[in-house]
Amino acid sequence: MKPSTPITQRTALVTGGSRGIGKAVCLALAGQGFNIAVGFAGNAGAADDTAAACKAKGVEAIALQADVRDEAAVKTMVHTVNDTFGRIDVLVCSAGIAKDGLIMRTSEADFDSVTAINLKGTFLCIKAVSKIMMKQRYGRIIALSSVVGLRGNAGQTSYAASKAGVVGIIKSVAKELATRGITANAVAPGFIETDMTAALSPAQKEAAASAIPIPRLGRPEDVASAVAFLAGESAGYTTGQVLSVDGGMAI
Ligand code: NAP
Repeated sequence: MKPSTPITQRTALVTGGSRGIGKAVCLALAGQGFNIAVGFAGNAGAADDTAAACKAKGVEAIALQADVRDEAAVKTMVHTVNDTFGRIDVLVCSAGIAKDGLIMRTSEADFDSVTAINLKGTFLCIKAVSKIMMKQRYGRIIALSSVVGLRGNAGQTSYAASKAGVVGIIKSVAKELATRGITANAVAPGFIETDMTAALSPAQKEAAASAIPIPRLGRPEDVASAVAFLAGESAGYTTGQVLSVDGGMAI
């Protein structure tokens, strides 16, 4: 189903929009004419910079602080976006963290914090926008999974669990919301150069790149262009899918 408003009035909410992949998504969608709400946790300066860069592309943009673990904060963020722009056409769940370690050294607290942000946060954000999108009878939901959620990875049990769980959420809501004109898809990046992967040494990055069929690390823009496709009207018959953007890692 097509939205009733022209593309210049459509709105996207991007959690984790202050940095990395989320920031690149904000810029890509602003470039397509979406008004942008930039969600962030604590980095107000970076979120304001993303919003300013979106505005420079000729759209409206606001930055909104909300911890995605907190249902009340998520609801407030979503209602603020809807009150400001009148609708929410696209939700991109990019807020996420990793706390790596072998399972025997992973504390319960670390497991809980990774799954609370990556998995529960995705659930809470989708839940909060679903009513609005159902009323609109239009929506595009995109969540960031990971190659690690599809294949597992030694030293990333909590992260893998959270990202596999995201796929389960997406496939379920895709089935629940399909008749309301709402699609839900996941994007599964491979190794993308952002703050999340900045701790690795150049030698570790080189070793990682050489093991990828397309032998380089990914850029946030590589992921953003896949998200932008799924956020667009032309992806209206694609739902419940996981689109890998990993240079072939998951093959
Ligand atoms: P990043 O550069 O570390 O940025 C993380 C973003 O998440 C920031 O905008 C941060 O906000 C926000 N965030 C963190 N905790 C939050 C919370 N509790 N509530 C709300 N927002 C929170 O990460 P990235 O590399 O762009 O990753 C983006 C997504 O892609 C994540 O879900 C990640 O798991 C996934 N992914 C990344 C890679 C990769 O290689 N980089 C690969 C596969 C999947 P502040 O700036 O305010 O802290």
